[in-house]
Amino acid sequence: MPKVKKNAIAEKIVSKKAIKKMRIEKPKDEPLVLQTLRGMKDILPEDQAYWEQVRRVSERLARDYGFSRIDVPLLEFANLFTRNIGGGTDIVEKEMYAFVTRGGDKVALRPEMTAGICRSFIQHGMHTLAKPVKLFSIGPVYRYDRPQEGRYREHYQANFDAFGEDDPILDAQIIQMAHRLAHCLGLRAIQIQVNSIGCAVCKKDYNNLLVNYLESKKTKLCQDCKRRLEINPLRVLDCKEDKCSQVAATAPQAVDHLCDDCRVHFKTLLEYLDELDLPYTINPRLVRGLDYYTKTVFEIWSGSEEGKKASLGGGGRYDKLIKMMGGEDTPAIGFAIGVERMIFEMKRVQAKSYKPMKPRVFLAQLGSLAKKKSLRLFSDLEKNGILTAESFGRGSLKSQLKIANRLGVELTLILGQKETLDGTVIIKNMTTGVQETVSMERLVDIIKKKLKTDNVVIYHNHDHDELIG
Ligand code: AMP
Repeated sequence: MPKVKKNAIAEKIVSKKAIKKMRIEKPKDEPLVLQTLRGMKDILPEDQAYWEQVRRVSERLARDYGFSRIDVPLLEFANLFTRNIGGGTDIVEKEMYAFVTRGGDKVALRPEMTAGICRSFIQHGMHTLAKPVKLFSIGPVYRYDRPQEGRYREHYQANFDAFGEDDPILDAQIIQMAHRLAHCLGLRAIQIQVNSIGCAVCKKDYNNLLVNYLESKKTKLCQDCKRRLEINPLRVLDCKEDKCSQVAATAPQAVDHLCDDCRVHFKTLLEYLDELDLPYTINPRLVRGLDYYTKTVFEIWSGSEEGKKASLGGGGRYDKLIKMMGGEDTPAIGFAIGVERMIFEMKRVQAKSYKPMKPRVFLAQLGSLAKKKSLRLFSDLEKNGILTAESFGRGSLKSQLKIANRLGVELTLILGQKETLDGTVIIKNMTTGVQETVSMERLVDIIKKKLKTDNVVIYHNHDHDELIG
């Protein structure tokens, strides 16, 4: 494999010559490494209860707030991200998984979701839909960052974007929704940080002011920030290095240099947030470095001491992005939560996870004829919404009853040679041990009655409503 030059932006990452070489090179006899790549993880069945809870709560809130589901590809043309997220941002400069395809296209795994969703919005003419157009997505994003606790190279985001409305009431509703999402996942000590970084007009004036200030303190900045000063000075404000934080503490603040329109927009937003009684603070150093943000930016954090290390989610307005990409001028706002970070917090505070339904019936079979018939019987029970466990591979009744006991089912159905020939089934009550023989035709009705009907349906419409307190 040719060596890929680190830190080069996506479009320059692999030369044509290197691609050709890659194609003709014979596969080497490399040892099989049976491990996930660094910074990536399997989500195993035992972790799924939390994941399912996040998925279900996100989907439920998306529905309640009028968002439609959208899924866009993981892979897009690399310049969708390099042009729109912006040079000088870590995720474009250092962290893109970018490569050239066999057909010569420069592509990248999405490092965030908004750019792809905006591409889709324009491609499918969604500006003609009734506004605001609200889109929800959940899935993985990829950043070639240094893996550490809470920072993966593949992580999942639940992402919400709303297009076509510039009124700050939408900003307030989106922030409330982010807060509600955390609340519904069982996180109670949530803090919201908000800021306004202004529009294209005031952002430019403020940028000049900031650059002048930072130039005067250049010697006190870390190496990265010296570089950022040239390409993305706003990023200096949220650098984690101590010496840069000290410089940032006395830097001019965007909120003090907003144009009239942006000032009124921000002030109105704060009034709405007050009205909603949301626990917010203004953080004048919150900039969210991506180039496309304008006006409102916000993040949500765990309010507890242990949880203060990393943000749980964030977002903001990007009023000019659709136009910049070649679409109709369409204001927009969005946010994403990091699923892994939410789950980390949920586990830490012992929040509720999703409880899948457990089977209350076990189907046991004895003898080859009964075994054959039990396949169809299982399918009939499933079609009638009766969640049933089985152990078809086992022959002895004793071992099957042992499993039924372990699963804690209420009823075990026993189908033997005699029952199969008679068209009957034995129902054993696992609590009392009482057995009765019933006809196959009446079996479903009798089981439903015994289990008090409603509870046995696997997929019922109110499933989601039970999630949220
Ligand atoms: P961002 O797109 O950077 O604003 O990220 C949105 C949310 O995703 C953050 O608030 C985090 O919760 C989460 N997140 C960002 N980067 C990572 C990462 N490398 N690993 C895990 N979660 C992340």
